[in-house]
Formats: sequence, structure tokens, C-alpha cells
Amino acid sequence: MLITSRFDARPDTAGEELQVFCSLSLKINLPLGYPRLKAAEVHLENLLGLNEEDARDLQKALLAVSNEMKEDNSPALFNLIQCAKDFINSRNIPSDDCCICLCPFEDDEDFFKTPCAHCFHAECLARWTHDQEVQAVEKQTREGKRSEEEDIEHAEGSSRCPICRGGIGGDLTKKLKKWTEPLVAAHKRDCARREEEKQLEEKLRQKQSAARAWEERRRWVCCCGSA
Ligand SMILES: [Zn+2]
Ligand SMILES: [Zn+2]
Repeated sequence: MLITSRFDARPDTAGEELQVFCSLSLKINLPLGYPRLKAAEVHLENLLGLNEEDARDLQKALLAVSNEMKEDNSPALFNLIQCAKDFINSRNIPSDDCCICLCPFEDDEDFFKTPCAHCFHAECLARWTHDQEVQAVEKQTREGKRSEEEDIEHAEGSSRCPICRGGIGGDLTKKLKKWTEPLVAAHKRDCARREEEKQLEEKLRQKQSAARAWEERRRWVCCCGSA
């Protein structure tokens, strides 16, 4: 009798859907005579975020595990699942480049996938959303209002995807805070410095104008005095 088992292999992201970039299903057939006479047969299904080379590599690794377990006359199911899990964890980075800086993703970088399935470095997306917010505030100061879209974003506490303008969701916006907060702090410091410079310039201007007025008065007194 042939027994078929199915197993979904997903990366370990502690339930964090925004950090799942690839997944697949294993269909494992256990033929009559398994595990002593026949090896388990593994088929890959529903591959997401993996290319053909990845699929070939995994299939090869699974075949090796299956054959090795048969040599030992041991059940292979657990080892096959573990092999697929290790593989999916090692490949859990977006296959496309970052949509903002157009650079590929490296293992040691933080990156996110938006609900609209666009991938960005955390830093790139944070800088973009921060710049958008700064522009919205500047516009509000200049024109006394935000655009309707900016109003909605502000109310939802959610930014928009730079590519398709879809909402990236409050959850991701909140997670991005780790990267946006230093930008906000630096921006505040910049604003405070500019304001201080403006006030100093204004004081200097007032002093110069007072000095000019005084000089004018002195000349006038001198002229009148000598007349
Ligand atoms: Zn980037
Ligand atoms: Zn998008």
C-alpha cells in the first residue's frame, strides 16, 4: 500500500508573515517495502519565491537523505522534513532586488515584504516613509492642509508602498519604527539647528539695523552741529 504524506515547509519567522519570502510543500510517498526495501519518494509542490536551481538543489538533497535512510533501513520522514526546513530557512531572502535602491538582499540585512508583495530593505523603506511624512508636514505648513491620501495614511498610522501605493499596513509601519525613529530624531535636531540659526541671523540683522540707525543719527547730528 502506498502512503502519501504532505508537509508545508515554511521558514522559521516566529509567525511573522512579513518575513516569509519563500515556501513549498513536500509530497512524500512511502511505497510498499519502505523503509527496508524501498526509499521514500519526494515531490516538490507549490514553490513560492524559489527558482528552478533552488528546486533542483533541494530535490538532490532530499534524494540523498532518502537514499541514505534506506541504506540504514531507517524511516526517512523526519529527516526529509528537516532537510526541507533547513533549506527553506537558508533561502529565505527575497529573490528580487530592493525596489528602492535596486540592490540585491544580503543575508545579514533586514528586509520586509509588503502585503502587496513588494520587497524592500528595512532602511530604504523607512527612509522613504520618513521623507513622505516630512514632505506632508512641510506641505501642511505651506498650504495649511494635507492631501486626502496623506490624511488617510496619517489617520490609519500606515504608510503607502512606494511602488504600487497600496497600504503597507499599521503592523509593518509599527515595525519600521526601529528604523524611522532615528531618522525622525535626526530630522528634529536639524529643524532645531535651522531654527536657532534663523533666530541668530534675525538678532544679527536687528543689531546691524540698530547700528546703521545710530550711525545715521550721529552723522545728522554732526552735519547739523557743523552747519
Ligand atoms: Zn534597498
Ligand atoms: Zn506594493
